[in-house]
Amino acid sequence: VVQRVLLILAFAVFVVHPRAESEYDLEPQRGSRQLRRQHPRYAQSATPQKLTKTLQGILFDSDYDNGSLLDIQETGTDQFAADLYTDSGELGTARYWLRFRMTGVAGRSIRIAISHGRNPRPVIRMGDGPWRRMTADEAPDLNTLALSFGADTDIAEVAFFFPMGYAETLRAVGDIVRRTDSATTFVIGKSSQGRDLWMVRVTDSTVSDVGKHRVWIHARAHAGESTASYAMLGFLLQITDDSYLGHWLRHYCIFTVVPILNCDGTYLGHTRWDSRGIDPEREWDTPDRTPEVASLHSLVNQFMAGPNPIEVSLNLHSTQGNYTDTFFFKHLYPSVSHEFEAIQQRYIEAFRNSTPLFDNRSPQTSQLDDDQFIESYYWNHWRENVMAMTYEGHFLRRITDNEYITDEDYMELGRGLAIAVIEYFDLPILPPSERWGWVLY
Ligand SMILES: [Zn+2]
Repeated sequence: VVQRVLLILAFAVFVVHPRAESEYDLEPQRGSRQLRRQHPRYAQSATPQKLTKTLQGILFDSDYDNGSLLDIQETGTDQFAADLYTDSGELGTARYWLRFRMTGVAGRSIRIAISHGRNPRPVIRMGDGPWRRMTADEAPDLNTLALSFGADTDIAEVAFFFPMGYAETLRAVGDIVRRTDSATTFVIGKSSQGRDLWMVRVTDSTVSDVGKHRVWIHARAHAGESTASYAMLGFLLQITDDSYLGHWLRHYCIFTVVPILNCDGTYLGHTRWDSRGIDPEREWDTPDRTPEVASLHSLVNQFMAGPNPIEVSLNLHSTQGNYTDTFFFKHLYPSVSHEFEAIQQRYIEAFRNSTPLFDNRSPQTSQLDDDQFIESYYWNHWRENVMAMTYEGHFLRRITDNEYITDEDYMELGRGLAIAVIEYFDLPILPPSERWGWVLY
């Protein structure tokens, strides 16, 4: 009880009320020691990926939240060549993020030579319109953008995938949280560059916390992996829903959502690393090196010592590999026990039953690293008491109809991650209510 009161007091201090302003990432090396860090090699303190440059009357601009463009040159009339920023971190280089705005494009047709890696069709938005996948004409190959603009479209923005910046993420989270009284937002720390690190707690506050399951998710350890942010938002929408499923989940669970871990890298328009060239995904053996990981580490320890320890932990990422489906890294014996393998599979099956957008067609496995990852930390300290896995979204085609996957699909997958919790814990049926009605599940 004392611990719990202290925990509540500690959080009360930090409660904030959200305001309106407010390569291949295959990661197959998860079990290997090849990517062991050597020593900190800090990234440049300047931000070369933040560019403003005018060519032939077009202002090319990446100097804003999540923007990233190293340089652009003119190669002919209405023809340009763009260079993308390459992260250089202590684990090597990475480059699969781009995002920039063009102003002054009304009535023009331009070609941009741009080598952007493995996403065959980046996304575009005209003016303030919605993001959409480029067409085959607009992105004929991996090295070309061929864009035409109407007379009334003077501003357009392009990005690697459906993008989501730091402030954009917090604004979207704030919009969801404000609509419900079941969510509370906390600032749990600061990033290296001083940005707020958020946590959202969701539960039914009219029901006692005694015996509730704690479910943890955090997203965006890697800056360019924006599918993770959409999945996180879908998850948050599901657990705050004023629906039978929403009430069912909140009745039996306390959800802890960290919307964005790599705050600085995301703002800067990095692909993977933070502002200092460090991979915050692989810092759990030296958590104090990065303030974001230190904050999570301390929070995990508090929860695990408290009355509602974490029982499920999901770590949301994106992959660029040629996978046909979203996947989890399922850790195998002998790095974990057979029992742990079984609880991971139990969650995977529950997720499979919760959404048609996942069929586990690209299952991935690994030997759990000794100590670098959050999953390693849980395993070393709490074994089978915490079902902890990394989730990987992809940038390519959805399994239902082979069309390119969208931001909406990722939100739907995020809803599925929450709904899967019902089957995973085998939550007892909640008595029906006139207000929520019954939902067939
Ligand atoms: Zn990742």
